[in-house]
Amino acid sequence: MMLLIVSSGRTLRTGCYQLVMLTSISKATTCLLATLIWCNFIPPSCSFLMWRIIHNRMPTDDNLRSRGCVLVSVCALCLHAYETTRHLFFDCQFARSIWVWLEGKLRCKFDFSSPVDMLLRCLSAVRLLLRDIALADILHTIHTIWMARNGIKLNNANISLHPTLIKINTAILLTAGLSNNSCWPDSIALQVMRDLQVFPKHRPPP
Ligand SMILES: [Zn+2]
Repeated sequence: MMLLIVSSGRTLRTGCYQLVMLTSISKATTCLLATLIWCNFIPPSCSFLMWRIIHNRMPTDDNLRSRGCVLVSVCALCLHAYETTRHLFFDCQFARSIWVWLEGKLRCKFDFSSPVDMLLRCLSAVRLLLRDIALADILHTIHTIWMARNGIKLNNANISLHPTLIKINTAILLTAGLSNNSCWPDSIALQVMRDLQVFPKHRPPP
């Protein structure tokens, strides 16, 4: 277990990952992200969480340290690293196991270089129908990881991978039912929906 006792976030920021900030991307990309994240089939709590991550405004240990908090930092999910936003959501062994599971379900590879790249490249890689499902996958996964972290830290909860995957899949099912998108039923789309147990909505003939 690695622990870090920090007296000043400014002087001991080594290893902290600098997330992509909205100020560093184009206005068009900012508008696109807002359109993607804030939509009627995604719970606002999930959208808000992703928005905070993109803005690097999560109250993770690295950000609290940078604001002068003195604390002992360790990732609650793996107990093997300092808690940074990047580690918690993308690099942690627990989080990465979820992402690998999702990659298999969606037949795509995530780009973990930044949350913005993860969203945009994933959604551009999957088929049109699957964009809503992929978006729901990512946002529900982020939300579930955060709730698992809080459950351990605040309530000493016992979190394991399999129930977490079931919880994410259930959230995806609920979201898919709210999406209005449909598709031509090609084989890949059908396989993905079958794996996620999402009932396909076929596009009516012209
Ligand atoms: Zn971890």
